Amino acid sequence: MNISRRDFNKLIVSGIAGSALGVFGGIGNAYAAKNRVVVIGGGFGGATAAKYLKKLDPSLSVTLVEPKAAYITCPFSNWVLGGLKTMEEITQTYGNLSSRYGVKVMADTAVSIDTARSTVTLKGGAVLNYDRLIVSPGIDFKWDAIQGYSQEVAEATMPHAFQAGPQTVLLNRQLQMMKDGGTVLICPPANPFRCPPGPYERASIIAYYLKEHKPKSKILILDAKDKFSKQALFQKGWERLYPGMIEWRGAAKGGKVQAVDSAAMTVTTELEVLKGDVVNIIPPQKAGRIAFDSGLSDASGWCPVNPVSFESTLRPGVHVIGDACVAGPMPKSGFAASSQGKVAAAAIVRLLRGKQPVSPSLVNTCYSLLAPGYGISVAGVYKISAEGIVEVPNSGGLTPIDAGDDQLMQEAMYARGWYNNIVKDIWG
Ligand SMILES: Cc1cc2nc3c(=O)[nH]c(=O)nc-3n(C[C@H](O)[C@H](O)[C@H](O)COP(=O)(O)OP(=O)(O)OC[C@H]3O[C@@H](n4cnc5c(N)ncnc54)[C@H](O)[C@@H]3O)c2cc1C
Repeated sequence: MNISRRDFNKLIVSGIAGSALGVFGGIGNAYAAKNRVVVIGGGFGGATAAKYLKKLDPSLSVTLVEPKAAYITCPFSNWVLGGLKTMEEITQTYGNLSSRYGVKVMADTAVSIDTARSTVTLKGGAVLNYDRLIVSPGIDFKWDAIQGYSQEVAEATMPHAFQAGPQTVLLNRQLQMMKDGGTVLICPPANPFRCPPGPYERASIIAYYLKEHKPKSKILILDAKDKFSKQALFQKGWERLYPGMIEWRGAAKGGKVQAVDSAAMTVTTELEVLKGDVVNIIPPQKAGRIAFDSGLSDASGWCPVNPVSFESTLRPGVHVIGDACVAGPMPKSGFAASSQGKVAAAAIVRLLRGKQPVSPSLVNTCYSLLAPGYGISVAGVYKISAEGIVEVPNSGGLTPIDAGDDQLMQEAMYARGWYNNIVKDIWG
């Protein structure tokens, strides 16, 4: 497949590239018994997989297990911090999945998986039988990685806001309460973690808010790594839009946070103790708990899979998609999770018919907003090779570093188009 970056962005805006390219052909119609697929997690990966399973084969019995009645998307949750979106505008529900597509949605939590018996036990007591299982639980945090940090601290004083919802509301409230001249500390983890550009988009949108309302304030990014996604584009934008407001300190300059004191609102790095008025700690991460507890993850904390079908290499019959899986160079993004959900759905339909899955193409684009009319992006198309998932050469790329105002404005527009299309594709 040969696709230019410009054409690719057009596809994104029109919603076409939301598909996992090339995996849906040749599934055929021959089908005998009613097979049961259970999907754990109704986020970007799981909700996509559930819907596309029914789209590909309406005769399947598909059960989606998700405790939350409404799913708040992390994408665009940073925008809430700048007053550019409301929480309502980033909230999705499951009504269409059941009424339009016939997915059985169960408001419950999966507590254990028995791969020998092919069953999933739910917190409410139900036991679900499956012929194939998809697990898309997102991330969990390594709470013990930063001394003094814990779930309680995150909920009370130092939010991570890396699972959108009450954490986003808390961080937003703290920013609104902060005095002019205050310091916001943003502390991202080392790779790999959910949404590599997320902390830096966050810094940009917070700066947008502060410039308008509290212009004497500062943002200090204390990073556990020495480089980050779209770095040159972000830093160029910061100099232009928010001169002197955002400082980034990488690991080599003592950026890595080792401990926090939530009462004193301080963080401790290798070099010093720093005080923040708002402290956003984004802890290191691992696969969501159910994947971890069910033996789907390896020593890395993530779940290895066969890249053609996203079937676990540790537990046959179970497919792991989204942030929880190891997907080579694909970032942990909502777009990637959704793309993987389509690949897993198509593979399962074929496997249940005794056919081999076809080798897929996968796609991702991550847009980041630096200000309402200033967007940047990174895009990638991926294929399967002997080494696993690899990027198709010359397929994606970054916003050019010398992009003009028109292009940056267009990227911001594409970002909105991307969001509207993907949430419609998944929950619409
Ligand atoms: C600030 C921020 C900005 C982001 N911006 C973007 C962006 O612009 N573009 C982009 O593509 N990505 C973005 N992302 C990344 C994106 O949110 C994730 O990559 C994506 O949500 C991963 O999808 P998932 O299905 O793996 O997990 P999730 O979307 O987290 O879904 C997991 C679901 O599983 C459920 N669950 C967990 N355990 C169980 C269980 N035991 N039983 C039942 N259900 C369970 C959870 O309730 C949850 O709803 C952003 C992330 C952040 C933090």
